[in-house]
Amino acid sequence: MTRALILGGTSDASLLAVEIARARIDAVYSYGGRTRAPADQPLPTRIGGFGGVRGLTDYIRAEAITHVIDATHPFAAEMSRNAIEACAETGTPLIALERAPWAQASGDNWIEVPDVNAAVVALPERPANVFLAIGRQHIAPFATRPQHAYTLRFVDPPEAPLPFPADVIVSRGPFTLDTELEMLPARGIAWIVARNSGGDGARAKIDAARMLSLPVIMISRPELPERRRVESVAEIMQWLGHRACLGA
Ligand code: NAP
Repeated sequence: MTRALILGGTSDASLLAVEIARARIDAVYSYGGRTRAPADQPLPTRIGGFGGVRGLTDYIRAEAITHVIDATHPFAAEMSRNAIEACAETGTPLIALERAPWAQASGDNWIEVPDVNAAVVALPERPANVFLAIGRQHIAPFATRPQHAYTLRFVDPPEAPLPFPADVIVSRGPFTLDTELEMLPARGIAWIVARNSGGDGARAKIDAARMLSLPVIMISRPELPERRRVESVAEIMQWLGHRACLGA
Protein backbone atom coordinates (compact mmCIF):
# COMPACT_ATOMS: atom_id res chain seq x y z
CA MET A 1 0.00 0.00 0.00
CA THR A 2 1.24 3.45 -0.93
CA ARG A 3 1.48 6.08 1.81
CA ALA A 4 3.17 9.23 0.55
CA LEU A 5 4.75 12.08 2.47
CA ILE A 6 4.74 15.43 0.64
CA LEU A 7 7.30 17.90 1.93
CA GLY A 8 5.47 21.01 0.87
CA GLY A 9 5.21 24.75 1.24
CA THR A 10 5.16 25.66 -2.45
CA SER A 11 2.47 26.22 -5.06
CA ASP A 12 3.68 23.10 -6.90
CA ALA A 13 3.20 21.09 -3.72
CA SER A 14 -0.39 22.39 -3.52
CA LEU A 15 -1.06 21.31 -7.11
CA LEU A 16 0.38 17.91 -6.31
CA ALA A 17 -1.79 17.60 -3.19
CA VAL A 18 -4.90 18.18 -5.31
CA GLU A 19 -3.89 15.43 -7.72
CA ILE A 20 -2.99 13.00 -4.95
CA ALA A 21 -6.29 13.64 -3.16
CA ARG A 22 -8.16 13.21 -6.43
CA ALA A 23 -6.40 9.88 -7.03
CA ARG A 24 -7.32 8.85 -3.45
CA ILE A 25 -3.73 8.03 -2.61
CA ASP A 26 -3.04 7.83 1.11
CA ALA A 27 -0.76 10.79 1.84
CA VAL A 28 0.33 13.37 4.42
CA TYR A 29 1.19 16.95 3.53
CA SER A 30 3.93 18.51 5.63
CA TYR A 31 4.44 22.24 6.18
CA GLY A 32 7.61 23.63 7.75
CA GLY A 33 5.56 26.06 9.83
CA ARG A 34 7.17 29.33 8.66
CA THR A 35 3.89 30.88 7.44
CA ARG A 36 1.34 31.82 10.09
CA ALA A 37 -1.74 30.70 8.17
CA PRO A 38 -0.67 28.17 5.56
CA ALA A 39 -3.16 27.34 2.82
CA ASP A 40 -5.57 24.46 3.53
CA GLN A 41 -4.72 21.25 1.73
CA PRO A 42 -7.08 18.50 0.56
CA LEU A 43 -4.95 15.98 2.49
CA PRO A 44 -4.20 15.31 6.15
CA THR A 45 -1.67 17.96 7.11
CA ARG A 46 1.08 18.19 9.70
CA ILE A 47 2.98 21.39 10.54
CA GLY A 48 6.52 21.97 11.85
CA GLY A 49 9.99 20.43 11.69
CA PHE A 50 10.54 16.70 12.20
CA GLY A 51 13.66 17.20 14.30
CA GLY A 52 16.45 16.73 11.79
CA VAL A 53 17.38 13.54 9.96
CA ARG A 54 16.71 11.40 13.04
CA GLY A 55 13.24 12.91 13.51
CA LEU A 56 12.32 12.40 9.87
CA THR A 57 13.65 8.84 9.91
CA ASP A 58 11.51 8.10 12.97
CA TYR A 59 8.48 9.75 11.33
CA ILE A 60 8.85 7.74 8.11
CA ARG A 61 8.99 4.52 10.11
CA ALA A 62 6.23 5.39 12.59
CA GLU A 63 3.85 6.54 9.85
CA ALA A 64 4.75 3.66 7.50
CA ILE A 65 5.61 6.12 4.72
CA THR A 66 6.36 4.30 1.46
CA HIS A 67 7.21 7.30 -0.81
CA VAL A 68 8.64 10.74 -0.04
CA ILE A 69 8.09 13.64 -2.41
CA ASP A 70 10.29 16.64 -1.78
CA ALA A 71 8.20 19.50 -3.14
CA THR A 72 9.88 22.15 -1.00
CA HIS A 73 11.23 25.42 -2.35
CA PRO A 74 14.58 25.01 -4.18
CA PHE A 75 16.23 27.09 -1.45
CA ALA A 76 14.87 24.93 1.40
CA ALA A 77 18.14 23.00 1.24
CA GLU A 78 18.26 21.76 4.82
CA MET A 79 14.92 19.98 4.48
CA SER A 80 15.98 18.52 1.13
CA ARG A 81 19.29 17.25 2.52
CA ASN A 82 17.51 15.73 5.51
CA ALA A 83 15.07 13.98 3.17
CA ILE A 84 17.91 12.49 1.12
CA GLU A 85 19.58 11.13 4.26
CA ALA A 86 16.41 9.87 5.96
CA CYS A 87 15.21 8.13 2.80
CA ALA A 88 18.62 6.49 2.34
CA GLU A 89 18.53 5.38 5.98
CA THR A 90 15.03 3.90 5.73
CA GLY A 91 15.27 2.69 2.12
CA THR A 92 12.29 4.86 1.16
CA PRO A 93 11.98 5.97 -2.50
CA LEU A 94 12.45 9.75 -2.81
CA ILE A 95 11.64 12.10 -5.66
CA ALA A 96 11.94 15.87 -5.88
CA LEU A 97 9.40 18.10 -7.62
CA GLU A 98 11.45 21.09 -8.64
CA ARG A 99 11.04 23.62 -11.42
CA ALA A 100 14.06 24.36 -13.61
CA PRO A 101 15.90 27.55 -12.64
CA TRP A 102 15.31 30.69 -14.70
CA ALA A 103 17.82 31.35 -17.47
CA GLN A 104 18.98 34.81 -18.40
CA ALA A 105 17.12 36.12 -21.48
CA SER A 106 17.99 38.87 -23.91
CA GLY A 107 17.67 42.21 -22.13
CA ASP A 108 18.29 40.77 -18.67
CA ASN A 109 21.05 42.37 -16.63
CA TRP A 110 21.91 39.76 -14.00
CA ILE A 111 24.86 39.51 -11.69
CA GLU A 112 24.86 35.84 -10.69
CA VAL A 113 26.21 35.10 -7.21
CA PRO A 114 26.47 31.86 -5.23
CA ASP A 115 24.89 32.98 -1.95
CA VAL A 116 23.46 35.84 0.12
CA ASN A 117 26.86 37.08 1.35
CA ALA A 118 28.06 37.40 -2.23
CA ALA A 119 24.86 39.30 -3.06
CA VAL A 120 25.68 41.83 -0.32
CA VAL A 121 29.15 42.32 -1.83
CA ALA A 122 27.68 42.75 -5.32
CA LEU A 123 25.63 45.81 -4.32
CA PRO A 124 27.02 49.16 -5.45
CA GLU A 125 28.85 51.48 -3.05
CA ARG A 126 26.66 54.49 -3.81
CA PRO A 127 23.32 54.57 -1.97
CA ALA A 128 20.46 52.98 -3.90
CA ASN A 129 16.90 51.77 -3.41
CA VAL A 130 17.15 47.99 -3.26
CA PHE A 131 14.32 45.45 -3.38
CA LEU A 132 15.35 42.38 -1.39
CA ALA A 133 13.11 39.68 -2.83
CA ILE A 134 14.41 37.02 -0.43
CA GLY A 135 13.05 35.41 2.71
CA ARG A 136 13.27 37.32 5.97
CA GLN A 137 15.62 34.76 7.51
CA HIS A 138 18.26 35.76 4.92
CA ILE A 139 18.21 39.57 5.16
CA ALA A 140 20.54 40.13 8.16
CA PRO A 141 23.81 40.32 6.15
CA PHE A 142 22.47 43.40 4.32
CA ALA A 143 22.78 45.35 7.59
CA THR A 144 26.48 45.71 6.70
CA ARG A 145 25.47 47.96 3.76
CA PRO A 146 23.37 50.57 5.62
CA GLN A 147 23.78 53.22 2.92
CA HIS A 148 21.01 51.56 0.90
CA ALA A 149 17.23 51.98 1.34
CA TYR A 150 15.74 48.50 1.37
CA THR A 151 12.27 47.35 0.36
CA LEU A 152 11.16 43.96 1.69
CA ARG A 153 8.06 41.93 0.87
CA PHE A 154 6.70 39.33 3.29
CA VAL A 155 3.61 37.12 3.48
CA ASP A 156 3.14 37.93 7.21
CA PRO A 157 4.01 41.14 9.08
CA PRO A 158 7.43 40.82 10.80
CA GLU A 159 7.10 39.53 14.38
CA ALA A 160 10.57 40.59 15.52
CA PRO A 161 12.31 43.90 14.82
CA LEU A 162 14.16 43.87 11.48
CA PRO A 163 17.99 44.04 11.48
CA PHE A 164 17.79 47.42 9.69
CA PRO A 165 15.11 50.00 8.84
CA ALA A 166 13.18 49.01 5.74
CA ASP A 167 10.08 49.70 3.71
CA VAL A 168 8.01 46.53 4.30
CA ILE A 169 5.27 45.34 1.96
CA VAL A 170 3.03 42.67 3.48
CA SER A 171 1.31 40.70 0.75
CA ARG A 172 0.62 37.14 -0.27
CA GLY A 173 0.46 38.12 -3.93
CA PRO A 174 -0.14 36.96 -6.57
CA PHE A 175 2.43 39.31 -8.10
CA THR A 176 1.82 39.89 -11.78
CA LEU A 177 3.88 41.73 -14.36
CA ASP A 178 1.46 44.66 -14.02
CA THR A 179 1.71 44.82 -10.22
CA GLU A 180 5.54 44.59 -10.36
CA LEU A 181 5.76 47.23 -13.11
CA GLU A 182 3.75 49.49 -10.81
CA MET A 183 5.54 48.66 -7.53
CA LEU A 184 9.18 48.90 -8.67
CA PRO A 185 9.09 52.45 -10.11
CA ALA A 186 6.68 53.65 -7.40
CA ARG A 187 9.37 52.85 -4.81
CA GLY A 188 12.22 54.07 -6.99
CA ILE A 189 13.85 50.62 -6.97
CA ALA A 190 17.23 50.65 -8.74
CA TRP A 191 18.49 47.16 -7.78
CA ILE A 192 16.75 43.83 -7.14
CA VAL A 193 18.21 40.98 -5.14
CA ALA A 194 16.44 37.70 -5.94
CA ARG A 195 16.93 33.98 -5.64
CA ASN A 196 16.71 31.77 -8.69
CA SER A 197 13.50 30.05 -7.65
CA GLY A 198 12.35 29.17 -11.17
CA GLY A 199 8.70 28.59 -12.06
CA ASP A 200 6.07 31.16 -12.87
CA GLY A 201 4.89 32.23 -9.40
CA ALA A 202 7.87 34.47 -8.56
CA ARG A 203 8.89 35.33 -12.10
CA ALA A 204 7.01 38.60 -12.63
CA LYS A 205 9.61 40.71 -10.82
CA ILE A 206 12.34 39.31 -13.08
CA ASP A 207 10.33 40.06 -16.22
CA ALA A 208 9.56 43.54 -14.86
CA ALA A 209 13.27 44.14 -14.12
CA ARG A 210 14.11 43.34 -17.76
CA MET A 211 11.44 45.73 -19.02
CA LEU A 212 12.64 48.48 -16.68
CA SER A 213 16.35 47.76 -17.39
CA LEU A 214 17.03 47.14 -13.70
CA PRO A 215 20.03 45.08 -12.60
CA VAL A 216 19.20 41.87 -10.72
CA ILE A 217 21.62 40.25 -8.30
CA MET A 218 20.55 36.64 -8.81
CA ILE A 219 21.44 34.15 -6.08
CA SER A 220 22.01 30.65 -7.48
CA ARG A 221 20.39 27.61 -5.91
CA PRO A 222 22.23 25.75 -3.20
CA GLU A 223 23.98 22.58 -4.35
CA LEU A 224 22.34 19.31 -3.27
CA PRO A 225 23.50 15.71 -3.48
CA GLU A 226 22.30 13.79 -6.53
CA ARG A 227 18.64 12.75 -6.29
CA ARG A 228 15.80 11.88 -8.62
CA ARG A 229 14.17 15.13 -9.75
CA VAL A 230 11.23 15.92 -12.04
CA GLU A 231 9.55 19.17 -12.99
CA SER A 232 5.87 18.30 -13.25
CA VAL A 233 3.07 16.98 -11.09
CA ALA A 234 2.22 14.52 -13.89
CA GLU A 235 5.66 12.90 -13.56
CA ILE A 236 5.20 12.52 -9.81
CA MET A 237 1.81 10.87 -10.36
CA GLN A 238 3.41 8.51 -12.85
CA TRP A 239 6.13 7.70 -10.32
CA LEU A 240 3.35 6.87 -7.83
CA GLY A 241 1.73 4.64 -10.45
CA HIS A 242 -1.18 6.96 -11.29
CA ARG A 243 -2.09 9.29 -14.14
CA ALA A 244 -2.54 13.00 -13.41
CA CYS A 245 -5.84 14.62 -14.37
CA LEU A 246 -4.58 18.22 -14.48
CA GLY A 247 -1.64 17.51 -16.77
CA ALA A 248 0.34 20.03 -14.69
P1 NAP B 1 14.98 24.78 5.30
O1 NAP B 1 15.92 25.86 5.74
O2 NAP B 1 15.46 23.79 4.34
O3 NAP B 1 14.44 23.97 6.56
C1 NAP B 1 14.77 24.28 7.89
C2 NAP B 1 14.04 23.29 8.74
O4 NAP B 1 12.64 23.56 8.71
C3 NAP B 1 14.17 21.85 8.29
O5 NAP B 1 15.39 21.26 8.71
C4 NAP B 1 12.95 21.24 8.91
O6 NAP B 1 13.12 21.12 10.32
C5 NAP B 1 11.92 22.33 8.75
N1 NAP B 1 11.17 22.19 7.50
C6 NAP B 1 11.36 22.83 6.31
N2 NAP B 1 10.43 22.46 5.43
C7 NAP B 1 9.63 21.57 6.05
C8 NAP B 1 8.47 20.86 5.66
N3 NAP B 1 7.93 21.01 4.44
N4 NAP B 1 7.90 20.04 6.58
C9 NAP B 1 8.44 19.89 7.82
N5 NAP B 1 9.52 20.56 8.25
C10 NAP B 1 10.10 21.39 7.38
O7 NAP B 1 13.63 25.41 4.75
P2 NAP B 1 13.13 26.94 4.67
O8 NAP B 1 13.87 27.62 3.59
O9 NAP B 1 13.11 27.50 6.05
O10 NAP B 1 11.63 26.71 4.18
C11 NAP B 1 10.64 26.26 5.09
C12 NAP B 1 9.38 25.93 4.32
O11 NAP B 1 8.95 27.07 3.58
C13 NAP B 1 9.56 24.80 3.31
O12 NAP B 1 8.43 23.97 3.41
C14 NAP B 1 9.61 25.50 1.97
O13 NAP B 1 9.08 24.70 0.92
C15 NAP B 1 8.75 26.71 2.23
N6 NAP B 1 9.16 27.83 1.39
C16 NAP B 1 10.43 28.27 1.46
C17 NAP B 1 10.81 29.29 0.65
C18 NAP B 1 12.21 29.78 0.68
O14 NAP B 1 12.45 30.81 0.08
N7 NAP B 1 13.15 29.09 1.31
C19 NAP B 1 9.91 29.90 -0.22
C20 NAP B 1 8.61 29.42 -0.29
C21 NAP B 1 8.25 28.39 0.54
P3 NAP B 1 13.60 19.77 11.03
O15 NAP B 1 15.06 19.67 10.74
O16 NAP B 1 13.26 19.98 12.45
O17 NAP B 1 12.82 18.64 10.41
